[in-house]
Amino acid sequence: MSRLAIVFVLLASIAATALACSKNHNFDYILLATQWPETFCESQRCVQHQDKWSIHGAWPENNDGSWPQDCCTEKPFNAALLKPIEAELIAHWKTLKSGSTNDVFWSHEYSKHGTCSVDSPLLKDELAYFNNTLTAFKKLKIDEWLAAAGIVPSASKTYPVEAFHQAIKKGSGVTAAVDCVVHRKKGVPVISQINFCLKKETLQPFDCPLRDHNCKPHVQIGYHPSH
Ligand code: AMP
Repeated sequence: MSRLAIVFVLLASIAATALACSKNHNFDYILLATQWPETFCESQRCVQHQDKWSIHGAWPENNDGSWPQDCCTEKPFNAALLKPIEAELIAHWKTLKSGSTNDVFWSHEYSKHGTCSVDSPLLKDELAYFNNTLTAFKKLKIDEWLAAAGIVPSASKTYPVEAFHQAIKKGSGVTAAVDCVVHRKKGVPVISQINFCLKKETLQPFDCPLRDHNCKPHVQIGYHPSH
């Protein structure tokens, strides 16, 4: 191949990558999805986990309820880039699935959501995506705020979903959205996620426009401890 041809092929592949990676980047805010490990683990085999809120993911969202996903298949997840923050990730964003690995979970979150978050200056590349999501999460003292309102994990006690909302509002100053699921064995509603809305420029929380998911108003919900 002549030099000119090589240069042409290189330019064409760079252009193709840029094009493939520039699709669907627009979004309005970041949804920081935090999860209650025991609820996730009620429906599948899990590794040992603690009773503390943990990160599911940071997801770009639009005000109309749509969201971009899988924005750059040409930019594969690189686990080596996360080595400097691996211990922190394991503390707050670890895989719960038995027989799987953290890299599988992080790769899924990055490929599906992280590659679409690059319009946020704080989430512009893989390390920034994970590191700044961790920083935003660590400012949310969810366990403390709930405990301060008397909401503690219990195998028998239940709480109205409004109690979670009030505790989060009191602690953080913002409204969050709560997700519930029906417990596989007991058939009762339990809390699964608390979702915070963050400004895309600063990752500061603001009142979340999202509705609760599967949590009916005034219904008592479970908040189970791990066993
Ligand atoms: P997403 O596609 O970002 O909504 O994430 C959903 C996927 O992530 C599902 O396959 C879940 O089973 C998986 N998932 C959610 N939380 C965890 C976790 N803590 N550990 C491992 N996989 C998870």
